Amino acid sequence: MLLEKNLIGGTWTGGSDTLEIRNPSNLDEVVGTYGMATAADVNAAFAAARRAQPAWRGATIEQRSMALDAISRMIFEQKDRLAEIMAREGGKTIPDALGEVVRAGHIARFFAGEALRIPGEKMGSVRPGVDVEITREPVGVVGLITPWNFPIAVSLWKISPALAFGNAIVWKPSEKTPGISAAIAEIVAASGVPAGVFNMVIGRGPEVGAAVVEGADAVSFTGSAATGRRIAVRCAERMVRCQLEMGGKNPLVVLDDADLDLAADLAVNGAYFQAGQRCTASSRLIVTSGIHDAFAKAVATRLEKVRIGPALDKETQVGPVIDESQFEKNLKYVEIGKQENARLASGGNPLQLSTRGWFLAPTLFADTTNTMQINREEIFGPFASIIRVADYDEALAVANDTEYGLSAGIVTTSMKYARHFQANVQAGMTMLNLPTAGVDYHTPFGGRKMSSYGPREQGRYAVEFYTMVKTSYLAA
Ligand code: NAD
Repeated sequence: MLLEKNLIGGTWTGGSDTLEIRNPSNLDEVVGTYGMATAADVNAAFAAARRAQPAWRGATIEQRSMALDAISRMIFEQKDRLAEIMAREGGKTIPDALGEVVRAGHIARFFAGEALRIPGEKMGSVRPGVDVEITREPVGVVGLITPWNFPIAVSLWKISPALAFGNAIVWKPSEKTPGISAAIAEIVAASGVPAGVFNMVIGRGPEVGAAVVEGADAVSFTGSAATGRRIAVRCAERMVRCQLEMGGKNPLVVLDDADLDLAADLAVNGAYFQAGQRCTASSRLIVTSGIHDAFAKAVATRLEKVRIGPALDKETQVGPVIDESQFEKNLKYVEIGKQENARLASGGNPLQLSTRGWFLAPTLFADTTNTMQINREEIFGPFASIIRVADYDEALAVANDTEYGLSAGIVTTSMKYARHFQANVQAGMTMLNLPTAGVDYHTPFGGRKMSSYGPREQGRYAVEFYTMVKTSYLAA
């Protein structure tokens, strides 16, 4: 059955082309066949958004807050259904999917509050008899482009502030996760947000994503660095603002004085859970000599016990990777690692389970150097490498020797090194004795260098991107 799940001006529509989604844990199961939007559909979505935005901008802050409150409530009420959709179409385990759904509900709830607290300032003037007011206005119609790996959380951390601050939306979710995207659109449509304020177009990046970039007053994108760069160039040419959240090659530094069990647990959690498909995954494990051998052994031992299986299976800790292209990409990097003379300490092979799926054994390379290709490029799979270093100074230098700068962790019992690392590591987020992945929903999220571009997402900082500042001078 063809699912017509594009939402344009309050109407559900199909598309000219279709895409079949199969369960990555069981390739014999078709999850759904979705109608893909076209560039013409995107233009229709922008037209609807432009018609609807003035009224939404003029809505009371309470109306906007109530709509976000309703979105949050529906997400919590439907959390089991939403998590199951994500497990079936995206291969996320049920606990991971549920955690993400609940986080998305909290994000919408947080922005229901922010809608009531739009900041502004009143200032004195240097001229007598003049008042100055600094206010914030919506940007207009924002284009939101999101990836498949956090299909509900990333989407909600863009949709929620956009709505809270009075913008209309044209959203292009990843074409790899249309089911959860359609479920989100149904929730927003039922929340009291007027038709046309929120539009969703499911389609392929180069056609439909590119059309979103052409039509928007501002573009918020999360995805790969290669796509982000292309979008930044086009936004600069069009002179519209953009906000990009991209990849990572996140270091987890382990010092000699670390608690060994904690360090190994953090590495396994940060690198391999959610099949390593997290922008904040700990892909480079940078370990000082004194603890190196024991750490490498402890991680390899834990990997042997990780339960890999179908995402819907209760026992499963790590599910499949999303699709064939990701699967092949991972295997290609296993070969590259071998050619670079890295030592394969664990995994690296496809797994045959009771169902046909994109299952990979968690891969650990040891005896690697930071110049190897496997340590320079984002792989985005259950894959990590150990890099041996002499001491803390070398560990910090290696941690910073990367094009990326999203999340960086250190495992140590030394306050001196912990504080120095926090101050000097070139990353947007730092973690002390915690996994590199896993963040709160009310705090700013983002990185440096090739990991992020533009103002921060989430928390109170989201207002910077989704509003424009106006300074008004008023004669008394
Ligand atoms: P991707 O760049 O392939 O796709 C992201 C989105 O962009 C999709 O909706 C896609 O259809 C669209 N797109 C593709 N080409 C486009 C184009 N030419 N113009 C406009 N849109 C286009 O990334 P992905 O594979 O979906 O996601 C994985 C990547 O996302 C990883 O690099 C990961 O690190 C990153 N990511 C980053 C964060 C973060 O917050 N930093 C969070 C999650 C994922």
